[in-house]
Amino acid sequence: MAHRVTLIPGDGIGPEVTEATKRVLEATGVAFHWDLAYAGAGVMDKYGTPLPEYVLESIRKNKAALKGPVTTPVGSGFRSVNVALRKRLDLYACVRPCKTYPGAPSLYKNVDIVIIRENTEDLYAGIEFEEGTPEAARLIKLIAETKGDAVREDSGFSLKMISEAGSRRIVKFAFEYARAYNRKKVTAIHKANIMKFSDGLFLAIAREVAQEYPDIEFEDRLVDNMTMQLVKRPQQFDVVVAPNLYGDIISDLCAGLVGGLGVAPGANVGVEIAVFEPTHGSAPKYAGQNKVNPMAMMLSGVMMLRHLGEVKAADRLEGAIAGVIAEGKNTTYDMKINNAQVVGTSQVADAVIEKLGEI
Ligand code: NAD
Repeated sequence: MAHRVTLIPGDGIGPEVTEATKRVLEATGVAFHWDLAYAGAGVMDKYGTPLPEYVLESIRKNKAALKGPVTTPVGSGFRSVNVALRKRLDLYACVRPCKTYPGAPSLYKNVDIVIIRENTEDLYAGIEFEEGTPEAARLIKLIAETKGDAVREDSGFSLKMISEAGSRRIVKFAFEYARAYNRKKVTAIHKANIMKFSDGLFLAIAREVAQEYPDIEFEDRLVDNMTMQLVKRPQQFDVVVAPNLYGDIISDLCAGLVGGLGVAPGANVGVEIAVFEPTHGSAPKYAGQNKVNPMAMMLSGVMMLRHLGEVKAADRLEGAIAGVIAEGKNTTYDMKINNAQVVGTSQVADAVIEKLGEI
């Protein structure tokens, strides 16, 4: 029976990488029924929102979605569709594997890190108070009364909230993931020496949860130290669990370790629902040029195949992508090493489909 999956092409480079991914997924022989759904600035006029209810309904019904990137206006305009989607569907865990494939333009070998990023709390909760508003003034007054600290009157606020329940479920998710995928170690990232009541809580819960998994090694790292260690010796890390903001930053750092955003896939996972999308954004300057790398989205498709129980097809597709990277003849500009030939987005899909035929 065909898998029913919500397909959100997104905007910018989204539609191109989505089309390439749809083609390679179908070429595995697994049958899909795609429910097309549109989100972002392009649907604002029609629905009055960048995230129409029908999109959420479709994902709730199908329980799985494949999503291209969606642009978020900077500073003003609507809030992020991506953040809203994760919040509305309670997709609390963001899973981002970063793995070196031989032939990729990386300074490192044998990196295989999976970042588990908390998706719903921390500074991304969207609870903000604009500078100069009565609400900001009330907060400044409350801080003065309760803490005796003077906050500048022209301050804006973005609140950082980390809960015990939120920390427990993400750390548990990381350990369960480690068990399911036969991984050996979980590293928790924080800045608990400075933010004692938010990151400190996250760390305390992480230590508590770790006790339930004696078969898996546990360690913690301050986020600043972690960035240095990742650059120096990334092979020492296995599964990494982090609150929202650190997880976001470290994901891009790790993508850089393994060849760039063009090969960094991801999934946003809740209790029942999972939305698969690359780590990269909509790269508007490259939109419509058949130029960017579709492999991050294809590898997100590999993760989706595994999630749907299509493990053989997932292994074949990952093998085909790895084969194309190793050959180095049919990759996009971001994968170029020395004078290697460069092709466009759709030609990468052609090459992956050809390789699938050989596996
Ligand atoms: P970006 O990831 O879109 O692009 C940054 C740079 O990375 C690009 O200029 C390009 O050089 C490179 N790049 C990205 N994807 C690539 C690919 N597939 N192949 C080759 N090179 C690639 O980040 P940005 O410029 O900070 O963000 C652009 C927009 O995307 C913003 O509106 C942002 O909010 C949005 N965004 C969306 C998501 C999402 O939908 N999940 C994630 C991140 C950013």
